[in-house]
Amino acid sequence: MTNHEIKISFQEYTSVQELESADRQLCAEAVKAMDNSHSPYSKFRVGAALLLKSGKVIYGSNQENVAYPSGLCAERVALFHWGANHPDDPIVSMAVTAHTDEFELKKPITSCGSCLQVLAECEKMQREPVKVILFVANGPVWVTNGIESFLPFLFFEDRLS
Ligand SMILES: [Zn+2]
Repeated sequence: MTNHEIKISFQEYTSVQELESADRQLCAEAVKAMDNSHSPYSKFRVGAALLLKSGKVIYGSNQENVAYPSGLCAERVALFHWGANHPDDPIVSMAVTAHTDEFELKKPITSCGSCLQVLAECEKMQREPVKVILFVANGPVWVTNGIESFLPFLFFEDRLS
């Protein structure tokens, strides 16, 4: 038997103001992305913004449906849009934020496992890691470079692709 230990690392900033200019700007785009959230059921608005190498920004927001499982997270809305429309323009970074009137968010929300798995595949497609910036209005910012910090045991099988 062998024990293995996996350590992950991420950076924490006290607020968006502490970030470098491009990241700060992308956070503002993620806030804008929440405007189109369709979340009448959870009342939990999520916005995602992808910065592509060309400078283009892709927006995603959570899209719920009365048939609950038919909805989709903000991250996957943005990532699938990228894959469908701009696969040759690599994703440099992704900012994700959330807001609800129901309670105060004091720390960043983290992406669900399905979104992380999709992000992993996007990184494989473009052969470059994506900087992920998670933040809320009045809380800290978490930044990591690439999916492996969030999902070290991501599913990937070379022989399937
Ligand atoms: Zn998700």
